[in-house]
Amino acid sequence: MRLRNIPGAEEHIRSCPFVVTEPTAAKGRWNEHFGNSHPLAVEIGSGKGHFITTLAAREPGTNYVGMEKYSSVLLRAVQKQEERLLPNLALVRWDAQLIEDVFAPGEVSRIYLNFSDPWPKPKQASRRLCAKEFLRLYAGVLTDGGIVEFKTDQRPLFDFGMSEIEAGGFTLLSYTYDLHADAAMNAGNIMTEYEEKFSAKGNKICKYIIKKA
Ligand code: SAH
Repeated sequence: MRLRNIPGAEEHIRSCPFVVTEPTAAKGRWNEHFGNSHPLAVEIGSGKGHFITTLAAREPGTNYVGMEKYSSVLLRAVQKQEERLLPNLALVRWDAQLIEDVFAPGEVSRIYLNFSDPWPKPKQASRRLCAKEFLRLYAGVLTDGGIVEFKTDQRPLFDFGMSEIEAGGFTLLSYTYDLHADAAMNAGNIMTEYEEKFSAKGNKICKYIIKKA
């Protein structure tokens, strides 16, 4: 997601106490940052932040980090958090490629990938956030038995993601090609902005849950 450059977005983001502007300094110390020893979960590509703010409000016993590459997009999540001031939610402008600079090995218990960019050309495959190269990075920061949850309406991207699980160091726990019709997997589901938009068009939502092998 790229939004038009918003003047002042950088300054606005930097002035918010719940935006961690130097996240590398928090590596291995996120419990100190949140002031408790709760488990830590991360959404990569958190976009405008509806999913992560809703989840953090619902699950006060877990700490959340919303990671987003672009400040113009992160600003929308910042504005949501400015209204809610959730103590268990931090936002970072960061590239998932460098996730190991922000979290220590075993520091993260769960990672959410929601409607990641499809990068459809074959030679772009390693840029997809569900590619084995990324899964190996996630495995590096996850706890033993740590979880990745991935949702998308892009079936080719999902099929690719399914084929990367083993090489990425994970095992498949469950999956569906039609999340909203699957009562068990849809229980407690929080719709993201893209999920609302694409399911309204009639697209089916695919989801998998995988565990660090
Ligand atoms: N999760 C939201 C947005 C999906 S669009 C939703 O479901 O509605 C994908 C988002 O991932 C975009 O906001 C994009 O900027 C972000 N993104 C893409 N590559 C990224 C990366 N390497 N690191 C962090 N965020 C990334």
